[in-house]
Amino acid sequence: MNAIAEFDSLSGREEFRARHIAPSAAEQAAMLAALGLPDRETLIARTVPDAIRLTRRMAIPPARSEAEVLAELAALAAENRSDIKSLIGLGYHGTHVPPVILRNVLENPGWYTAYTPYQAEIAQGRLEALLNFQTMVTELTGMEIANASLLDEGTAAAEAMALALHVQKGGSRLLLAAADCHPQTLAVVETRARPLGITVERVAFADLAASCARKPFGVLVQTPSTTGELRDLAGVIAAAKGAGALAIVAADLLSLALIRPPGEMGADVVVGSAQRFGVPFGYGGPHAAFFATRDAFKRQMPGRLVGVSVDAAGRPALRLALQTREQHIRREKATSNICTAQVLLAVMAGMYAVWHGADGLQRIARRCNLAARIFAAAARDAGFTPRHGAFFDTVTLDCGDRAEALMAAALARGFNLRRVNATDVGVAMDETVTRADLERLTDALGEAAGRSVTLPETADPSIPEGLLRTSRFLRQAVFNSHHAEHEMLRYLKRLEDKDVALNRSMIPLGSCTMKLNATAEMIPITNPGFANIHPFAPAEQARGYRTLITRLEQWLCAVTGFAAVSLQPNAGSAGEYAGLLAIRGFHESRGEGHRDVCLIPTSAHGTNPASAVMAGFRVVAVACDRDGNVDLADLRAKAEANASRLAALMVTYPSTHGVFEEAIAEICAIVHAHGGQVYMDGANMNAQVGLTSPAAIGADVCHLNLHKTFCIPHGGGGPGVGPIGVAAHLAPFLPNHPLVPEAGPASGPGPVASAPWGSAGILPIPYAYIAMMGEEGLREASEVAILNANYIAHRLAPHYPILYRGAHGFVAHECIIDCRGFQASAGVMVEDIAKRLQDYGFHAPTMSWPVAGTLMIEPTESESKAELDRFCDAMIAIRAEIRAIEERRWPIGDNPIKNAPHTAEDVTAEVWTHPYSRQVAVMPLPFVAAAKYWPPVKRVDNVYGDRNLVCTCEPMESYAQAAE
Ligand SMILES: *Cc1c(COP(=O)(O)O)cnc(C)c1O
Repeated sequence: MNAIAEFDSLSGREEFRARHIAPSAAEQAAMLAALGLPDRETLIARTVPDAIRLTRRMAIPPARSEAEVLAELAALAAENRSDIKSLIGLGYHGTHVPPVILRNVLENPGWYTAYTPYQAEIAQGRLEALLNFQTMVTELTGMEIANASLLDEGTAAAEAMALALHVQKGGSRLLLAAADCHPQTLAVVETRARPLGITVERVAFADLAASCARKPFGVLVQTPSTTGELRDLAGVIAAAKGAGALAIVAADLLSLALIRPPGEMGADVVVGSAQRFGVPFGYGGPHAAFFATRDAFKRQMPGRLVGVSVDAAGRPALRLALQTREQHIRREKATSNICTAQVLLAVMAGMYAVWHGADGLQRIARRCNLAARIFAAAARDAGFTPRHGAFFDTVTLDCGDRAEALMAAALARGFNLRRVNATDVGVAMDETVTRADLERLTDALGEAAGRSVTLPETADPSIPEGLLRTSRFLRQAVFNSHHAEHEMLRYLKRLEDKDVALNRSMIPLGSCTMKLNATAEMIPITNPGFANIHPFAPAEQARGYRTLITRLEQWLCAVTGFAAVSLQPNAGSAGEYAGLLAIRGFHESRGEGHRDVCLIPTSAHGTNPASAVMAGFRVVAVACDRDGNVDLADLRAKAEANASRLAALMVTYPSTHGVFEEAIAEICAIVHAHGGQVYMDGANMNAQVGLTSPAAIGADVCHLNLHKTFCIPHGGGGPGVGPIGVAAHLAPFLPNHPLVPEAGPASGPGPVASAPWGSAGILPIPYAYIAMMGEEGLREASEVAILNANYIAHRLAPHYPILYRGAHGFVAHECIIDCRGFQASAGVMVEDIAKRLQDYGFHAPTMSWPVAGTLMIEPTESESKAELDRFCDAMIAIRAEIRAIEERRWPIGDNPIKNAPHTAEDVTAEVWTHPYSRQVAVMPLPFVAAAKYWPPVKRVDNVYGDRNLVCTCEPMESYAQAAE
């Protein structure tokens, strides 16, 4: 080898892959030996059916090193013009991320690698942070109850429409929407309305009240309007209610620090975005949307809701409330398909309010308002007429024939303004605007007007007296205690330490793929070149993003085998919905719009039936056989019975039971033969990448959860990205966007998210992952994920029944263990095992899904053999504990499993009355002591919390009373 070749061979390009895929060659050999297999290829050959194995390599470049990919992403970021300040508005505003939040939340794996807080005892930190968010939203909006975030403002408005449709007394299918709502919000609502047979009529705000005579089920208004106008909404709200409709208000959260909140004007639902509370633009997302309503509608409210309850010792403890509303349980009767939301961003926004408090928020709001008033005064001096006398932070100018001149003069000085139409230009002020900015903007006005204008020293008030907020808000202790940075830093640390995230131990959640979120993948997202780009910035200012998006789409086409990909859906559920809309559009284009039956196996994830209903389909369930496979006879019968109306089958592959079904090609063929399309739920792609593909199995469309397979962290329940891939015949029906034509085909169904590329700000994560793994690395990851799962199945099989296996006795990338027998033998439920794992420092596997009474374990390729062994040791030790109960060495009602988890307070109490030792309680195995995790609360009582629903922090008054 010559010196240069040798030098290249030492580049470390394989190093990332070897760190992401944790088991070393020796560890893999040991696991294969335990399985009695000569090599990995033999395992794969016996796991993935031959008929669907890929014979060709994916068109993905070879691996590059962390340093190379970081440099490439930095170069792409530099092609995005973050030096230009976007004052475009449209629901997206510049903001200063408080550095203490940036570093200790957004850039902190203790927060970003956590899972959705279903296991409440080990999630008290993020549950408290979400309770803060909910409290902040109820306080600012003046509403009674708020959820823990939705995907974005547009989908939140669409969810409000769905709620209004659902709770109305009459049978109306008419929604009236003020024509001056944000255009993308209207478009998302219209997309959602169409398959449900709802008519959305855009009406001028002034005519809305009178139009209520037409008996709509809901009325949607925006405050301030998209062009910035502030109005008293009381009249419209009263008219809506008089007509039996729900009044839905999309509101700017910051404005509510100064303006009388919609709740005080009688609104039924208030939605909006919490983006400007310290969450960067990210070229459109991710940001937390909020949804607040009246107590009367709490059971119809979409999304997750955090509530206060008590633990087994009667101490206050938090957990997700009213979970029976969610799609996991309600399925096709669910009010919404939302699953993954925007937890990490909601945590940030809530902490922004904790950091600033009411006074700080009011200061920021007043400053934005004053900037707008100064600008309006300067504009008048220049001869431009503001369209509205009453405004908060957004001023729209009638520029006559000088609109282009003003846009150009502003751009020359480093600002993007909003070109509202031929004559009008809008400016939205935010907290980042400086005095120097105001001077430059004044200059721009002068240049466009052709006269000299100076920064005015007086500015008229712009908020009418009657619209000023008089009620106080955020008086709860949490918003008044952490204004010193040390207090804030320690508060964030305290909450973080209450939780189990991936930086502590493996989170073996079946179907959720909690794999490594490498630091190198995370670093680019806070680069200003990615973080600070407005979603509606001119295309030439976002070249880096456009290149990244195009390449990522190509790579995901290579992964799925499909012709086209849309990155717009911002969660798996949104991808399902978009994919079904594509199928709908396809049938309609062929004059077969009557096809409306969607077959869904009973084992499907709850989002599947919920999405199908949202897409206007009727759900017909298909049975599964004893082995967990789709019952072919039943499928055939249902397909035949519905042949003339068959629209689609939704199928998860490998199945939700963790097996590569041999009959998958036949399943797809049956559906096609009856005129249907096949939707593949791609949540289990981690078992497929490089080995088989949705196209190879015969599907027509699938979504990918980039927050599962492609390393976007779960963030405690979001953000996610759920792109869909489609075969060529469905490409014309991918989502598009009213403001950005390049985001999708003109023939598409409209947008399914507010931003053209959804949560673009986190796309550098899957980009970096794919680039650093390369084609071979991705394939190897799938193989090792399967190896790790089979090793766990092998170790646990002598202790727990393994529920399903493939034709040759192997599982795919996850395995299900059956815990149902322990109820009769020891009074132990699967939940008890989940809670006991907390004492061992582990997050439980997926519980009771897809089969009640079971645990579904998915280790991923990122866990080393040592960690797999620790987890298996814990599970095996728990089995021994169950045996002690079975043999009545411990009573059924008082044993370490039933009493789990144990807190430090429990075991340090003066008295200890249990028939097992304190050591058994909290240090059951030697490895536990080495890094003991202490659950902060005992078992949380779900029923108590739902009976006594409290979903906000306690008000100041109750703290004061307690102190008295
Ligand atoms: C996670 C998951 C979904 C939903 O994805 P979200 O991103 O949470 O909306 C759908 N189906 C399956 C099988 C899943 O595991």
